[in-house]
Amino acid sequence: MSVTITLNQGSGGKQTHRLIENVFVKRFGIAEPLTDSALVRNRGMDIVFTTDSFVVDPLFFPGGNIGKLAVCGTVNDLAVSGAVPVCLSAAFIIEEGLPEGDLVEIVQSMADEAEKADVKIVTGDTKVVEKGKCDKLFITTSGTGTINPDQWHISIGERIKPGDKLIVNGSLGNHALAVLGARNQLSFRTPVISDCASLNHLIGKVLKISGNIHFMRDLTRGGLATVLNELAAMIGTGISINEGSVPIDDPVKGLCEMLGFDPLYLANEGKILIVARAGDESKVLDILKSDPLGKDSHIIGEIMDDRRSRVILNTVSGGKRILEMPSGIQLPRIC
Ligand code: MG
Repeated sequence: MSVTITLNQGSGGKQTHRLIENVFVKRFGIAEPLTDSALVRNRGMDIVFTTDSFVVDPLFFPGGNIGKLAVCGTVNDLAVSGAVPVCLSAAFIIEEGLPEGDLVEIVQSMADEAEKADVKIVTGDTKVVEKGKCDKLFITTSGTGTINPDQWHISIGERIKPGDKLIVNGSLGNHALAVLGARNQLSFRTPVISDCASLNHLIGKVLKISGNIHFMRDLTRGGLATVLNELAAMIGTGISINEGSVPIDDPVKGLCEMLGFDPLYLANEGKILIVARAGDESKVLDILKSDPLGKDSHIIGEIMDDRRSRVILNTVSGGKRILEMPSGIQLPRIC
């Protein structure tokens, strides 16, 4: 029997990691750790390069659409690597029958978001396929940026030490539930809006105020729990998180209880994890809170002095549990 690809392999969790390692990394000969962007040092030039595909269903959701998502996602992958995003490419696979007005609206919001983020969309490609051969519209964006050599360590967490503080810039889970609601045409009592936003200006302010940012990553597919597990495995150290400090909006909490989701595993599109050296956390928190995109920032935990790469959640009820790397899929096609 021949083996076929399953939806679980797109979840961002264990199965995705296995797929990437076994199929891609080996054949492409990638030796560096897998981070949000590739750092390329070539003939004295430092370049940061990243790419993402977007297949969100539906195309439009509260707080954004597939186009805005594509720009924000790529800008954020560059920014969390310590880079200054410069330009993007955008490639479109369009299903025959897509209303042209929808495409125009999506492309306009890409242009608006690019302007906000101060990046240029400079090249692209368009393909149209027969009806039924893709689902309305898929977009692939790539981006490059420049990086100060002092920031090279950030994406691999090279300088992380026990005691370093973990900070998130706001409430988790909104994006995934906003898309789920739009997909199933659910009307939530309190509307849930996607947090989709470009964070490069916010991150720029943080890097300016602290020379001791030891790691950053956006909390997209797989959510906070996945990023924490990836980080713990990368640095070979345990991480401790205080459940009560993780900001989650009440409507998201309620919906998660009702629908059986754990908000720590849900995707965000405008949230990042920052690891700052102990002692720098207050000034980082202050600068984050002074910006609308970071007003609900919280310190959520710290790096432990423990050689086991586990993520320990100190629960609100006073217990401890291991926050596992997700296995299987919670919600497909949320980005
Ligand atoms: Mg990322």
